[in-house]
Parts: sequence; C-alpha cells; structure tokens
Amino acid sequence: MSRRRFLLATRSEGKLRELREIFSEFGVEAVDLATIGIPETARENHLEEFETFEENALAKARYFFEVSGGIPTFGDDSGMCVDALGGEPGVYSRRWSGREDLERAALDAANNAKLTTRMREARAEQGDRFTDAGRYVSVAAFKDATGELTRRGEIEGRVIESPRGTGGFGYDPYFEAPELGGTFAESSIKNTAAGSHRARAFRSLLAALRAEGRLE
Ligand code: IMP
Repeated sequence: MSRRRFLLATRSEGKLRELREIFSEFGVEAVDLATIGIPETARENHLEEFETFEENALAKARYFFEVSGGIPTFGDDSGMCVDALGGEPGVYSRRWSGREDLERAALDAANNAKLTTRMREARAEQGDRFTDAGRYVSVAAFKDATGELTRRGEIEGRVIESPRGTGGFGYDPYFEAPELGGTFAESSIKNTAAGSHRARAFRSLLAALRAEGRLE
C-alpha cells in the first residue's frame, strides 16, 4: 500500500465501485468526497461546462484539489458518443435529458428514454446509412503540487433497442460492448473494471504516475 492519501473526486456510486477495484490493484488508497466529508455544493454542478472531456476532468481535479486543501486528486469525465447522433450525447451525457430536477436512477431513465427515441428517429431518417455504433469515452485527470496529467480511455460498442441487464448505471443497459461480452449492465464489476473506458483511462494514468514516482 502507498502511504500517501489520494482523493477520488466523484460522488457517483457506479464509478466508485469500479474505481476501487482499479486503485486497489495499484495498491493506492483513495478516499471519496463523501467519506472525507466534503459537502456537496451548487458550485460543483458547474464544473463540467467545457466542450471536451479533458477540460471537464481537469476542472474537477483542480477544484477538489483546492477545496480539500491540497490532497492529490483524481477527477474524471466520461460519456457515450453515438455515430448516428453525430457524436451526441458526448460531454453532455449526464444532463442530456434536460431534467435538472432528477438525480441518479430517475435521471438515467430520462436520459435512456431520450436515447431510444433519438435512435428510432435516426434509424427512420438515415435508412441504409444508419449505424448503431458508438463508444464510451473516459478521461482521467490528476492534480498534485507538482502538476497535472490526463489520460483517455475508450471502448467501442453499439446501442441496442431493448435494455439488457440490471447492473451498472447511466446508459449501461443499452450499450453492448463485444470486448465485455454483453451490455455494461450485464457485466460484473470485476469484468467492467478489467476492460471499460474508465479502467483504461485510469490504468494508463496510474501507470504514468507510478513511473514518475508520484504515487509514493
Ligand atoms: P460524468 O462523467 O460524471 O459527467 O458523467 C457522465 C455521464 O455519462 C453519466 O451520468 C452517464 O450518464 C454517462 N456515462 C459515463 N460513463 C458511463 C458508464 O460507464 N456507464 C454508463 N453511463 C456512463
């Protein structure tokens, strides 16, 4: 185990389940925002206002590095990019439905309802050109007193018409990835943590930080 303490700047239980697996592989102790007692504020809902995953992930790492009084901090930003929708919802994945009043499972349901409607419309409009291909993208960011670093991870798949599986979060029941052997919602935490977009981004980032001696 590394003796240094790190902060994982997320309040998403879905992300935390997956990230705990990956961090333990590297022997790194990371605490989340709720555990360390950083209260949720309106300000943090406006950190993701940039147009790239990189800028949004860095905004989270920088903000919580400051708020925590300088604990080396990991942040991430992720989303689903669908070819038939011109790359949407992309960086807007979380708030795509426009339902500011909803959170967690209810927000996921509203986003997924929009996804199925938009895919049905695209299929009808695009005819032979239609493809259900898409990818999950994650950017992992890190900030400590020395500086900042980001790494990107992606996994290819397709958007299916009827949901399958009960695990995961967000768009998981509708996103099938051959490399995981089914939808993300059908995949066990261990399987997801082995090959997801987030796992790829964080493994690459943790490996780079270890090589620079910044995890000691
Ligand atoms: P953020 O990274 O907290 O901004 O969240 C991005 C949004 O993208 C989530 O609320 C989900 O809707 C979606 N998303 C990102 N990664 C995943 C994933 O691994 N599974 C399912 N949905 C995801």
